[in-house]
Amino acid sequence: MTTPSTDVTSTPCFDPGDDLTARVQSVRDGDTTTSLRLESMLTAIDTVNPSLNAYHEILSDSARVTANSIDTRLAAGEDPGPLAGSVIALKDNLCTTEGYTTCSSRMLENYRSPFDATVVTRLLNAGATLIGKTNMDEFAMGSSSETCAWGPVRNPHGINRVPGGSSGGSAAAVSAGITDAALGSDTGGSIRQPAAFCGCVAFKPTYGRISRYGLVAFGSSLDQIGPIARSVRDAAMIYEVLGGIDPHDATTSDLAVEPPLADGPIDPSSLRVGIPREHCTDRNHPGVTANLQRIIESLRAAGATIVDIDLPLTDHGISTYYVIAPAEASSNLSRYDGIRYGYRADPRPGEGLEELYARTRTEGFGPEVRRRIMLGTYVLSAGYYDAYYKRSLQVRRLIKQEFDSAFQKCDVLLGPTSPCPAFRIGAELDPISMYLNDVYTVNANIAGIPAISVPGGMIDEDGESLPMGLHLQTPAYCETTLLRIASTVESMVRQADPIAAGA
Ligand code: GLN
Repeated sequence: MTTPSTDVTSTPCFDPGDDLTARVQSVRDGDTTTSLRLESMLTAIDTVNPSLNAYHEILSDSARVTANSIDTRLAAGEDPGPLAGSVIALKDNLCTTEGYTTCSSRMLENYRSPFDATVVTRLLNAGATLIGKTNMDEFAMGSSSETCAWGPVRNPHGINRVPGGSSGGSAAAVSAGITDAALGSDTGGSIRQPAAFCGCVAFKPTYGRISRYGLVAFGSSLDQIGPIARSVRDAAMIYEVLGGIDPHDATTSDLAVEPPLADGPIDPSSLRVGIPREHCTDRNHPGVTANLQRIIESLRAAGATIVDIDLPLTDHGISTYYVIAPAEASSNLSRYDGIRYGYRADPRPGEGLEELYARTRTEGFGPEVRRRIMLGTYVLSAGYYDAYYKRSLQVRRLIKQEFDSAFQKCDVLLGPTSPCPAFRIGAELDPISMYLNDVYTVNANIAGIPAISVPGGMIDEDGESLPMGLHLQTPAYCETTLLRIASTVESMVRQADPIAAGA
């Protein structure tokens, strides 16, 4: 059994042979037990979490009970499921009956969910041990995990750097080895950008592939849950467990979820790889450009056809997203009124209901969440609905059409996940620069298509070596193709850059 690295100042490394799949096998083979693995993670969390702030809550009691029951069932010759032996963390916007579900907000500081999210039930039914709830940007709004009400999360690759957001705690925990894998939510890039910043894999399937039941809603037409993991193989394994129709979520698809890597990685010589010109601009960090170029050359050398693609609406994605997402958020977050549940400001003598609502929401929400609610309420207001909200829905349709025509010319789109590597904590206080982190990721949510970020190598930035991510997108419901291509790209990066891949 591998002991997770506790030295957070060193570059965390993933041994390609030591992913979740291998760990689950080692428990099945009797080389170790779920309980031993869990205890080792809990010890590592005690050492590492005070500096990383990846976890808000450790579910040690329930995790010990689960791990013990998995080991007992395995010893009795039963099959507790494909994830038996694994330890998985959950972003704190996924409802669990164990512990709290806070969305890293004072508003939900004491909230306990009366039910488990469908993804939580599916993980437990597949034999996973759920170790804790991870910190995030408040209500999943942000790209740095600095808006977390419990303090910023730190990046294991550089302790003064952000881990990305909003699923920063999940990505930091995977990267530091204090969980085998984690779930996050992705409304505009919130699993992919943190995975890129922390050197992990994150996979956002097609909208509707994974049930959102029990995910605290942000932008309901954009939200998807997805795994953050050490390898494409791990992400595929978790996706297979989570995916599929759910009677609790009417937007889930009834298409069967195939075992995505049953046929292994794809032969690149059969592939047309599209490179969007708009993703290769000089806004990218030079290291991002160099690593992207290197993988393009490796794919070309392996026989892939490289196709230039135009996605002129790329930059419009951010403006479209920042109308649609806040509009949906302003409606979703109206339930936090301090009356039905959540934080309530102390009533003042003579104060009316309206004032109590206003003070509760002002005190309970942080500044970024309040900004989004105001923005969303504004774009939905009678005088501006047509000019902003309706217009954004029209652009959304055009963005979908742009992807449709791109996929006539190629099988997959390849670019960077984010224009830059992890920035310093406190560096990007201006909201617009923060929003631009997601320029390459938001359009997959707007169009509802699947997308994945895989580690693309390391970048030198002011003497620090930081990971960057490669972003791959395919048409809706082509998860199998996407994961097979991602697996090919992952092994090419590992061959070219064994240090980045952790060999
Ligand atoms: N960074 C984007 C935002 O702040 C995306 C967040 C997300 O995907 N949850 O809205």
